[in-house]
Formats: sequence, structure tokens, C-alpha cells
Amino acid sequence: MSQRTIREVRAYTVRGKGADYHDQEGAHWIDDHIATPMAVYPEYRQSRRSFGLDVLGTLVVEVEADDGTVGFAVTTAGEIGAWIVEKHLARFLEGRAVTDLERIWDQMYRSTLFYGRRGVVLNVISGVDLALYDLLGRLRQEPVYALLGGPVRDELQFYATGARPDRAKELGFLGGKMPLHHAPGEGVEGFRKNLDALADMRGRVGEDFWLMLDCWMSLDVDYATRFVHAAAEHGLKWLEEALIPDDYWGYAQLKRQAPPGVLISTGEHEATRWGFRQLLETGVDIIQPDVNWCGGITELIKISALADAHGALVVPHGSSVYSYHFVVTRTNSPFAEFLMMHETAEEVVPMFSPLLLGEPVPVDGRLRVPETPGFGVELNPEVPRERPYTH
Ligand SMILES: [Mg+2]
Repeated sequence: MSQRTIREVRAYTVRGKGADYHDQEGAHWIDDHIATPMAVYPEYRQSRRSFGLDVLGTLVVEVEADDGTVGFAVTTAGEIGAWIVEKHLARFLEGRAVTDLERIWDQMYRSTLFYGRRGVVLNVISGVDLALYDLLGRLRQEPVYALLGGPVRDELQFYATGARPDRAKELGFLGGKMPLHHAPGEGVEGFRKNLDALADMRGRVGEDFWLMLDCWMSLDVDYATRFVHAAAEHGLKWLEEALIPDDYWGYAQLKRQAPPGVLISTGEHEATRWGFRQLLETGVDIIQPDVNWCGGITELIKISALADAHGALVVPHGSSVYSYHFVVTRTNSPFAEFLMMHETAEEVVPMFSPLLLGEPVPVDGRLRVPETPGFGVELNPEVPRERPYTH
């Protein structure tokens, strides 16, 4: 096993539902007048697809060992990601030992600094890193969580993200997180509608069920401060991603001004240990790295250690099995997110469906992470994919 080397790296694109879960058609709760940073422009308020949230599509990275074993991972990066993998990053993998995770990550990161650091390049680095973990697990016949030091609990507990926290409660989840629908540009009336939606849902789920709101970068410090105080009256557990990710100073101010007992969370659009160091220094309570975007598991291990030392929880954003194998190994990740990709958020469906086969889902809000080697999933051969570039 220790002699195994990497023979070839391949990158594919997939359109439609998959790792890029915004690449949807038709009506879906995830694109129903959700507040965004683009809501300052009224013509882009109704749909996130209208400003291009679905442009990237899914990237599939395959890493093949010299014995023919193939590991893979998926992320959001599409054709531009496929180009980066094939034309730039493959050189740091091919011919190398499969166990060279740290050196490969470091070379991918350092070599892309002149055009990378955040965003799509880190999504791509994440995809390559996760594919390597999948390959290593398959070669060792171990689940990825075993490679990370083993589980600290028997099963995962989940909250559900979607339009129907009341339905999430019936399905056995710990809590429910709804999108905020109205941005500051929609004025006093929008503020009132946002608060009414929370109060209405509180009435449906009762006092003790966790309710959270995801602002998807749409607010400013003044609005967020006034809103989080008003929302505290309705038992809001946390206010998520209130500000744009670059406004670290705003997050520090919001945390200082927020009422005790309502948590401030953010980080799904942050990447690397350095980005999260800046975020943790603002004092936010929960960081939410997306393992498909933040730099993969090699980087999430470092981000998580930093968060632990800052007294912050790590509750990874979405990402299905790629999150589950990490969350089960860390005490400062006490629960996980389940993204309800059902059109009306009324039923539990696999998050990356139909792209993956064997993708586990929570039952009664709980999941025992399968012991299948690697991340325990396979690509669905019936989903068409293309390899737009080779090297
Ligand atoms: Mg979010």
C-alpha cells in the first residue's frame, strides 16, 4: 500500500442537480426570493439564478492509483475547475505516492497563490484533496473517518436547512434553519416580514425546537444588529452569514452588539486556515467551513484546531458525506447540517442526488456513518459527464 503511486488525475463536469445544488430547474425553495448581496438591485431579488448562482456546475475529480483503484470527489467548480485540475494541478499528483497528502496540498496552494487564495481555486483544491482521501481509504479498505483518528461518537445528529422547520421537527431533526427572504433594500416592510416569518414558524414548532436564520451575506451591521435583537424575542438560536465574507470588522462589531444567547455564525464562503484565523479573531460563535470549498479535509483539520483553541464550534456547511466523515471525529463539531434538497423541503432526499450512489441520509435526524471504504459513495454511471480538457 505505501508503495502505491498516482497514475492519472482526471476532471469531469456535470450539469443539473449534483454537487452544485443551485443548478436546479423549476420551482425550488432554495431559489424563492432569498435575500442576497445582489438584492440591492431590485431586478435580481426574485431569483439567485437570475444573477448566475448556477453558472459553475459540478466538478468531478478522479485520482487513479497505479493498481487501477480510483478515488473521486465532487465539488462546485464546473468547467473552469476542470481546466485548473487538468492544466495546472495534475502535475503535483501524478507519479507521487498516494500518501503524500500534505505535500500535494501545500504545492497546490503555493503554486496557485498568484490567482487563487479563495473561491473557485480553493473549491478545486478541495475536490482534489477529497478525491485523494477517498483513494487512500479505498486502498486501505477503511472509511475516511478512520484515517482521521476515528469517531468520537456513535452517530451524527442533524439540524435541517430548508423552508420548512416545522416539517424538519416532524422528521426528527434537532432544529431547522430557514432562509431570510427580504434584504435591507426592502425597507421597514421587509424587516417586518422577516420577523413575522420567524414568529410564525416559532408558533408552529413550539418553544424548544432550534430555529435559525440564514442571511446569505445580505445584511449590513445596523440592520443585522436591529434584527438579531428583535429575533431574540422569538428564540432565534443563531443568525447565519449576516454580512459579506470580506467584512471581518463588521462581524466583530455584530458579535459585540448581538444579544447574549443568540449565536453568530458564518464561514461557508471562507477558505484556508488564514481566512478562518481572521474570522475567528472576530469572536463569532460558530464557523461553517464547507469541506468542498475551504481546502478539503487536509485544511479543515487545521481550521478545526484553530476554532477549538478559540472556543468556537465547527459546524460544516452542507457537503453530505464529505462533512459527515469529519464531523464524527471532532468533539467541537457536536452536530451536522442536512440540506433539504426536496423542492418544498418536506422530505429527506440525498443531498447530491442523483449524482452519487450510496449517499446516506439521516433517519429521525440521526445517522451512523457507514464503514464503507473511502467516503463510501460511488458516481452514478447514469448521470452524463464530460471531460472538457485533458493533459
Ligand atoms: Mg448558509
